[in-house]
Amino acid sequence: MRPLFCEIRLNYLRENYQILKKIHGKKLLAVIKANAYGHGAVQCAQALHDIADGFAVAFLEEAIELREHGITRPIVLLEGTFDAKEYDLVEQYDLWTVIHQQSQLELFLAHDWRKPTTVWLKMDSGMHRTGFFPHQFAAAYTALSQSDKIANIVKMTHFSCADEAERSMTDMQIESFDLGCHGLTGEESIANSAAMIRFPEARRDWGRAGLALYGVDPTGEFSGSLKPVMRLSSRIFAERILQPHEPIGYGANFYTKRSTRVGLVACGYADGYPRNAPNETPILVKGLRTKIIGRISMDMLTVDLNDSHEGVGDEVELFGDLINVQEIADAAGMIPYEILCNIKRAKRVYLK
Ligand SMILES: *Cc1c(COP(=O)(O)O)cnc(C)c1O
Repeated sequence: MRPLFCEIRLNYLRENYQILKKIHGKKLLAVIKANAYGHGAVQCAQALHDIADGFAVAFLEEAIELREHGITRPIVLLEGTFDAKEYDLVEQYDLWTVIHQQSQLELFLAHDWRKPTTVWLKMDSGMHRTGFFPHQFAAAYTALSQSDKIANIVKMTHFSCADEAERSMTDMQIESFDLGCHGLTGEESIANSAAMIRFPEARRDWGRAGLALYGVDPTGEFSGSLKPVMRLSSRIFAERILQPHEPIGYGANFYTKRSTRVGLVACGYADGYPRNAPNETPILVKGLRTKIIGRISMDMLTVDLNDSHEGVGDEVELFGDLINVQEIADAAGMIPYEILCNIKRAKRVYLK
């Protein structure tokens, strides 16, 4: 059996949720869009069900899957609806949808709601992707709040740069949000993972934790201990000794400098490991750090075994406890979000 495993440590997920909830205060949505950043949305939601205040997904189909697996906590649709018919299902499945543009607002008001419902109204405070401009926000809020179809409006916005060292963009967005919300009552939600860690003033009624929930600190500044939920591991399944000045792998992009013991690892880019991870990307063999040499193939990759006494049969950690997925992302010119979302084909093991 091919020894590539993707362990999902659900106990770490729960610990991370509790740490983040304590930091943010009040209520915290567990963001489990995109199959919980590759971790398995249903399994993650079930693991958090008794402690999570609610969940966030990108769109309707993701939410329905959760409802059909017994998730009864609040679920927010971060992208909102795509057409009028979706409001029937929003109602049927008891979901909270985001309204980020006028057409969604009009279709929402046109829908024949049987009982008043909660919506999340989104402001564009400076990211300029979605949301009502600050000067239009009060009008949208008023149109909704005057309707008897509304039980509750949660005011929200999203940051473009909360994880970057430069703080001024986020400061500016918080200021725009507060100005645009002036005089409007009700709950607020503005912080993603990075903002709840770095910007105390972004901690409002509802936090929205994604990456940090999975144990990856997007800021590099968090002093607490988030635990990586995903661990990708495999084994060395072949080894050979190459003479100095011999090429390895596709494109012959690595030449040995000395006599080199090379291990073959069962993991490749078809499993979601980044193909552009360069020579020297860190990897762990039986607990010892070494490096990838040669290009990543579809089903396998090659590592330098010289400095260790390890070989065939030994366990390899691609990332997880001692190799942080951030290191792989940095080496490959990616972000950890992408790598986690991409992992596939590996056998999944859910640990309680
Ligand atoms: C994905 C998403 C989040 C979570 O962001 P992280 O950086 O992963 O914490 C929060 N809010 C919105 C609107 C999102 O789309």
